[in-house]
Amino acid sequence: MKKWNVLWLMFLACTGQAQQIELSPRSKQSEKWAKTITESELKDHLYTYASDAFEGRETGTKGQKIAVEYLKAHYKSLNIAPAQANGDYEQDIELVLKKLPKGKLTINGQSMENGSGIMAYAAFEFSNTPVVYVGYGVNTPQHNDYQGVDVRGKIVLAKAGAPMLPALADGSTNDWAKQSEGLERKQKAAFEQGAVGFIYWDEAAFARLKRRFDYMKQNDSGRMSIKALESQASAMVYVDQATALMLHPSIVESAEATVLGSVEAGIKSEDLPIDSENVVAFIPGSEFPEQYVVISSHLDHVGVLADGSVNNGADDDGSGSVALLEIAEAFKLASDAGQGPRRSVVFLHVTGEEKGLLGSQYYTDVAPVFPLNKTIANLNIDMIGRIDPERKGDRNYVYLIGSDKLSTELHELSEAVNKKFMGIELDYTYNDENDPNRFYYRSDHYNFAKNNIPIIFYFNGTHEDYHKPSDTPDKINYDLLTNRTRLVFHTAWEVANRDKAIVADKAQ
Ligand SMILES: [Zn+2]
Repeated sequence: MKKWNVLWLMFLACTGQAQQIELSPRSKQSEKWAKTITESELKDHLYTYASDAFEGRETGTKGQKIAVEYLKAHYKSLNIAPAQANGDYEQDIELVLKKLPKGKLTINGQSMENGSGIMAYAAFEFSNTPVVYVGYGVNTPQHNDYQGVDVRGKIVLAKAGAPMLPALADGSTNDWAKQSEGLERKQKAAFEQGAVGFIYWDEAAFARLKRRFDYMKQNDSGRMSIKALESQASAMVYVDQATALMLHPSIVESAEATVLGSVEAGIKSEDLPIDSENVVAFIPGSEFPEQYVVISSHLDHVGVLADGSVNNGADDDGSGSVALLEIAEAFKLASDAGQGPRRSVVFLHVTGEEKGLLGSQYYTDVAPVFPLNKTIANLNIDMIGRIDPERKGDRNYVYLIGSDKLSTELHELSEAVNKKFMGIELDYTYNDENDPNRFYYRSDHYNFAKNNIPIIFYFNGTHEDYHKPSDTPDKINYDLLTNRTRLVFHTAWEVANRDKAIVADKAQ
C-alpha cells in the first residue's frame, strides 16, 4: 500500500499533474523562515533540555519546574507573548496523586484489608452504616430495582449484569449489562437515590482489576488526575464473591431488594496534591486573530529511577519540545519582518502527558485559553528525533497519524507542503484504525480530536530506549529532527495563512 502511494506520487510528479490542492500565495515565504530552524540550535536546546539537570521532568517535580523555566525564558527572550490574559506563560493546574487508600471493611465482625476480598480506589469511611441490596441496581421506567426501597443515608449493594428487560425506547437495556457503562449508570442511580456508598460485586471486573491493584499496592504508586474533574461519587468498593456472600448469602440467585446488616469501613485516602503547569505562548494573527492554530508537545517525562538514573527523555518528548521552540522562533522572525501569520499561532507545551494526557485534557476540558470552536487545527509533536529500528525504507521519514481523520483539506495540504518543501517519506502505518498500538489515542492531540478539531500527530515510532534512561541526546538524528521540525513549520504556516480556514468536513 505504502509503496503504491510512493510510486503514484512519483507518477504524478513525472506527468506534471500537481497535487489537487492549491497552496496559499503566502507559501512562497515559508522557506526563508524554515531555514532559521537549524540543526545546531535544536542540538543546543536538546543537550540542555534533556540533561541530568532537568531530572527527567516528572510532572510536579523540581525537574519539571526547571523545564518550565527554560521554556518561559525562551519565549521571553524572543518577546513572544504569553497566551493568557493574566500575562503568565504558565497555566497552573491542580492535580491529585491518588494513591491506593489503606484500611479495612468489616462485615459481621470480620475485617478485610483493602486488596483482599475488597478493592477501593478512594476513601470509604463509615461506622455501622446499614447496607441495602438492590439486585442489579437498575433504575429505568420499565424496571426499577429501587421501587419501594429507601436507600437514603445507606450503602447500596448491587451486582453486575442486568435483568431481562423489555426493549427500552432509548436502547439503553444493554448498557446496564455492560461492564463499565453499566457500573457508571448503577453508581449514578444509587447516589441519586440518596445512597452514601456503593458496594459492587462484579466477579469478572474484580479479577481483571486485581492484578493492577496488587502492583500499585506493592509499589505504593498511584494514579494522577485533574482535581477539577474529580467526581464526588467515589465512595465505592468492589467485592469478590466470597465477600458478596458474607453480605448476602443468596446474592447469586436473588435480585430481590433486601435490607441487610450494617458495615464498618475505615479506608482512608492517601491523596497528594500536585501542582503543575502548561506553558502557553502565542503570536496573534494579522488578519484573523480569532482563529487559532495550536502546535503542541509535552514538556514532561518520567523522572528518575529508584537507583538514581535519570530518564532524560531526549526523544520523548525533548525532541518535540525543542522543535516547538524553534518553530515559534521562526514564526516570530517572520512576524518581525512583516510576514506574521494571518491566523493566531499558539505554542502549547503541556504537562502530565506521561500521567495520562493530563495537561492537554486540562487545556481542552477545563480551561481552554482560546475557544475550542475557533481552534482550527492542532499539530502535535511527540518523539521526532529517532529512527524506528523495525521500519524498512528511507531513513528520512516520519509517521503521520490522524491527518485524514477529520479534515480532507488538512491531509491534502500536509502532503502538498511536504512535497513542495521537504520530500520526507510520510508513513501512514500507524494511521490505520485497526493498528493495535492505538497511537491516535495516546498523545495530546487526542484531546483536540475528540472535540472535532483536525489534528496531525508527528511521530518517529518507538525504539529500544523508549521510556528508559538510555533515551539520551547523543542518540538523536539531528538532521532528521531538523527536517521533521521544518515540515511541521511549513504545515503550520500553510494552515495559518490560507485564505479560508480549513474545514473539518469529516467531523462527527
Ligand atoms: Zn511522549
